Amino acid sequence: MNLRAGLVAAAALLLPLAAAVPGHAATSAPTAATAFAGSCPAAGVVTQGYSSTHDGVDIANSLGTPIYAVGAGEVIASGPAQGYGQWIRILHPDGTVTEYGHMYQRDVSVGQQVAAGQRIALMGSEGDSTGVHLHLRVRVGTSTSIRGIDPVPYLRDRGVGLPCTPGGGGGGTTTVTAWTQANVRSCAARSCDIVSTVYPNESYPAHCWVVGESVTDEGITNDKWVRLPLNAGGVGYVSAIYLKGDETGGVTTRC
Ligand SMILES: [Zn+2]
Repeated sequence: MNLRAGLVAAAALLLPLAAAVPGHAATSAPTAATAFAGSCPAAGVVTQGYSSTHDGVDIANSLGTPIYAVGAGEVIASGPAQGYGQWIRILHPDGTVTEYGHMYQRDVSVGQQVAAGQRIALMGSEGDSTGVHLHLRVRVGTSTSIRGIDPVPYLRDRGVGLPCTPGGGGGGTTTVTAWTQANVRSCAARSCDIVSTVYPNESYPAHCWVVGESVTDEGITNDKWVRLPLNAGGVGYVSAIYLKGDETGGVTTRC
């Protein structure tokens, strides 16, 4: 094999992750209330967690650090805001709202649809802030009069542990190989939206595994699902029963 052919073959290995299956996704069962697969909001150090006096989590890094949408959704606010200096609010399909504050620059406007992991802003120290950081608040519903919920378990439920690495939700990187064609879904159950597909004998980067819905095939039952980064941004989950290797597809890290 010459060098050029080798490069093409290597590139082809990554392509199937970009190939979503819109027909299947459009006809899948209602999933409006299903927790979406999350993306890392920003690289940085968690300097303050959620408490009775702090409605959100602070992630600190240097001025201009990119900030990414935690999940797909609609931008319902983008502009100046009391205390925040500037804020962005994104309404997700599951009815939750993520709020981003203190940004130095905003890249999105009201009414815009964003993808999970899409860059929306640059980190700053605008407003009521003592240093460059992202204040991330999560609310259930669009009301601003109710207190938010703890973003850490909210993110964990969506496959993101803090601190995280943008582009994949964090965790170590390993590789899995599918033995058959299988759907990659937005969360670890067959009722979740199909977001991509894996193909036989192709290898894919993977982050970690979670316990999800039990899947039985050829007399074997397996409740482990492996989290993969998607080329389109964000993450997806595939039942490990469709992956070569042990019951976690050879992935040793639990999410
Ligand atoms: Zn804060």
